[in-house]
Amino acid sequence: MTAPDKAAPDKTEQDTTEQDDVERTAVVVIGAGVAGLIVAERAAAAGLRVVVLDAADVPGGSVARHEVAGLDLDAGAESFATRSTAVADLARDLGLGGEIVAPDPAGAWIAHRDGTWPLPRAGLLGIPTDLDDVSLRAALGPDALDRARHDATDPVPAALTPGAPTPPSLGTVVRTRMGEQVLDRLVRPVVSGVHAADPDALDAQAVAPGLLAALEETGSLAAGVARLRSAAKAGSSVGSLRGGMHRLVDALVDRIEAQGGEVRLGHAVTGLHRDDDDWHVTTGAGGTAAPEGTARLRADRVVLAAGAGTAVPLLTGLFPSLADLPAPTGAPVTLATLVVRSDALDAHPRGTGVLVGEDVPGVEAKALTHATAKWAWLADAAAETAGPGVHVLRLSYGRPGENAARYADDARVLEAARRDATSLLGVELGEVLDSDVVRWPGALPAAGPGHAGRVARIRTAARGTGPGTGTLAVVGGWLAGNGLAAVVADSRAQAAQLFDKL
Ligand SMILES: Cc1cc2nc3c(=O)[nH]c(=O)nc-3n(C[C@H](O)[C@H](O)[C@H](O)COP(=O)(O)OP(=O)(O)OC[C@H]3O[C@@H](n4cnc5c(N)ncnc54)[C@H](O)[C@@H]3O)c2cc1C
Repeated sequence: MTAPDKAAPDKTEQDTTEQDDVERTAVVVIGAGVAGLIVAERAAAAGLRVVVLDAADVPGGSVARHEVAGLDLDAGAESFATRSTAVADLARDLGLGGEIVAPDPAGAWIAHRDGTWPLPRAGLLGIPTDLDDVSLRAALGPDALDRARHDATDPVPAALTPGAPTPPSLGTVVRTRMGEQVLDRLVRPVVSGVHAADPDALDAQAVAPGLLAALEETGSLAAGVARLRSAAKAGSSVGSLRGGMHRLVDALVDRIEAQGGEVRLGHAVTGLHRDDDDWHVTTGAGGTAAPEGTARLRADRVVLAAGAGTAVPLLTGLFPSLADLPAPTGAPVTLATLVVRSDALDAHPRGTGVLVGEDVPGVEAKALTHATAKWAWLADAAAETAGPGVHVLRLSYGRPGENAARYADDARVLEAARRDATSLLGVELGEVLDSDVVRWPGALPAAGPGHAGRVARIRTAARGTGPGTGTLAVVGGWLAGNGLAAVVADSRAQAAQLFDKL
């Protein structure tokens, strides 16, 4: 992946000189997740010499691949929200437009102690739009449904409007409008799967942009969600790429390198400071590929795309005004993938998967994705690679507040995955051909109440006032909000601010 000896185009080559062991370059991007790669690609496209540094041995961050039973699978993000065209536009720009796929329309189910039902369609993070939907009556029960109907008539309190002095949490919005049962039985399991956080800990505006405005304008949460959904393109609420979302990372890296940029892996950035002329970036301990252990770079521009765990200490070191900045953390997520041979799964007994409430006895997983039911390309690939009746199941562990140590042992996680899949899908799994466990510690940082204010503070400080004004950008899911749709749109906007006027 690293291309240190690669001939760069003339224009960028002039920008790079060696001085006292310090390498000079136009742009350093810290972090080769999707956010960093997007900005790096824009820098390279603007003719700037760009070096991307990542601590890991593979690029892509949470958009990763792993091989299980000979199949190339997504090890992290496996889809993108289609509420905006941001990800599809990026895919098209990278030549992947023809590879965009929609999931099977069967949709997912939701499991609780008292049963398993198809998840009502057309909602947002589990918030329903149609309270007359028959599956909703089954999933909620008559009393909870009666309470939810208050949403149509109760006036919208000022505390739930976009101008509220204390930005409301998603949990507060749902509880106030539709009641505790809608929150518990629908929204909490979905949010736990998508954000690895409790709805009470998430800023409503950050995780559902435009929702409070739509609520205020329509006078109802259901109608507000319906309005947001109808503003998006018709069709499925998520999409992916044939072959997996990790293809996006390969395409970005290829494009950066083709334009003379470099992606250096195994380089953990440990220091960032600025003098009158330049930014100084240091990589050190932890960088497995930096031969001398430490590398130093000087750059005109720096993009901090490394995630909150790295970014917050670097930012607070640079800007005393951010000293009180909390580093948002996310619950650790453990994913268990099972590739099984089971004819019973050909019928897709639970659609594309199951979201699991906290009250289901004997089940530890918070979500199960029946990946070969969800993505037709994967079913074809599984049949071609391993024969008929082969299915890919991905189970997700780690609820908000749960101790990560519970899922530290692979063998125990795989045993739980097999047991949980059998229970949730209601069929015998048959032979397990191969399996894998992947851990994501804190990779889904929670955007807590007041998130937008904190982002504004960070970006104001980063823009700066003295020498170097406008030469530092901070990007990534911890600011933009989790999910590729948010990260792609925000990273592209930040890149435009940094490079378009050059
Ligand atoms: C398990 C999982 C499933 C997900 N599923 C979906 C999904 O289906 N759909 C969706 O839209 N979103 C999904 N997401 C969220 C989505 O993947 C993220 O929001 C997005 O990829 C974040 O990108 P990023 O570049 O901001 O951060 P990251 O992907 O976290 O990248 C940050 C990078 O910085 C590097 N880094 C950290 N410290 C340093 C340092 N000191 N020096 C150098 N480099 C450093 C890391 O190695 C990493 O490569 C999922 C996330 C996870 C964890």
